[in-house]
Amino acid sequence: MGSSSLAVQSAREAVLQQCQRIAGNQPVERVTLLESLGRVLAEEVSLDSDQPPFARSMRDGFALRTEDVQSAPVVLRCIGEIKAGEMSATFLRSGEVMQIMTGAAVPEGANAVVMVENTDRRSDGQVQVLKPVRAGENIAPKGSERRAGDTALRPGRRISTLGASVLATTGKAGVLVYRRPVVAILATGDELVAVEEVPKGGQIRNSNSFSLYGQVLKSGATPLILETAKDNLPDLRRQVQRGLESDVLLVSGGVSMGKYDLVEPVFEELGVTIHFESVSMRPGKPTVFATWKDRWLFGLPGNPLSTFVAFELFVTPVLRALQGLPAADLPVVRGQLQTDVVERSGRSAFLPAYVSSGSGMLEILPVTWKGSADIFGAVESNALLIVPAQASRLTRGETVEALLFEELGYANEGRL
Ligand code: AMP
Ligand code: MG
Repeated sequence: MGSSSLAVQSAREAVLQQCQRIAGNQPVERVTLLESLGRVLAEEVSLDSDQPPFARSMRDGFALRTEDVQSAPVVLRCIGEIKAGEMSATFLRSGEVMQIMTGAAVPEGANAVVMVENTDRRSDGQVQVLKPVRAGENIAPKGSERRAGDTALRPGRRISTLGASVLATTGKAGVLVYRRPVVAILATGDELVAVEEVPKGGQIRNSNSFSLYGQVLKSGATPLILETAKDNLPDLRRQVQRGLESDVLLVSGGVSMGKYDLVEPVFEELGVTIHFESVSMRPGKPTVFATWKDRWLFGLPGNPLSTFVAFELFVTPVLRALQGLPAADLPVVRGQLQTDVVERSGRSAFLPAYVSSGSGMLEILPVTWKGSADIFGAVESNALLIVPAQASRLTRGETVEALLFEELGYANEGRL
């Protein structure tokens, strides 16, 4: 393969094309309901019973027949009490009421519940109903939400908090979910020292392993940090081979044009298929994407922001696909640019920016940033402003797009 750069869109398509090959064949596992939160559902879940399973009172009050209270206020005879969890054996006849609690089954014969606030309990066991009640009032009929056999959750989506509630209600104690892919993270470079160490002349601390670890976790996969590889063939070879034991291998550094950038030679030596080795983007140009059997390999640029951006664009789709999610979806938002932006690279640019929801439209403000090594500028951002390759200038007030990677900023001062 030549050394020409691929357009970002073409590079994404190359990744997505590989993702299609695994569609429908991703490994699954059964986990407990609690463990399933945040995992991607791999089975269709249907209801084992009507919901509600019985006519349910939605209030504390009295079950009655509406024809008895047309001319309320009216006094009726209270013949008993129904607690939640009970079913009354008595048929409610005209002139009678039964006291009922929220969540209890409405007795046969009753067609409404008057809330306790609209009644007056007499000492002699009689109840005065103060207002007329509509038929069906304060009753959720059996099966009014869903019927037995109806689909409650479809596969291919992450199980949300409310999803867990649906699973519990439908009796799913064990849930089939897609397996979390294991992602090996391999930092490379003779200059790298561990976070506990004090760098000596020319050395720096390895930070990419940590940002990648976070990105992998956020994507729902399981990160595995490998021991940093030195810039020599034997060490790199050994560590890359170790990385191939995982589903995905992310190598950071060693993919530029330097004399000791040996990642590609090692990939080639192992006989992997290289799909691209350079993308026309800033930051993140020297990104390598390769596959080998059912393994996925990425050579990510060493500069911290380059690695970060390349992950968001090219690794994310693979981790989504491996978890049974639609690979192509990206959290792109549109909003109003808050300053002018000049971009001279001629490549697609992804510039750290802060996106917040103001009074109406989203606002997108690029952060002050000194380029692909500057994590201190970028740490203030929650998104990447997308500057298309053909644009050399974006103007304040223009509608632009940004790729969100952290929570949106909210400027609503707690107002609803
Ligand atoms: P390279 O592609 O190996 O030439 O790396 C490009 C730049 O990124 C160099 O300044 C490296 O020191 C830096 N770099 C590479 N790996 C890491 C890492 N794991 N953490 C922080 N910086 C790194
Ligand atoms: Mg290096």
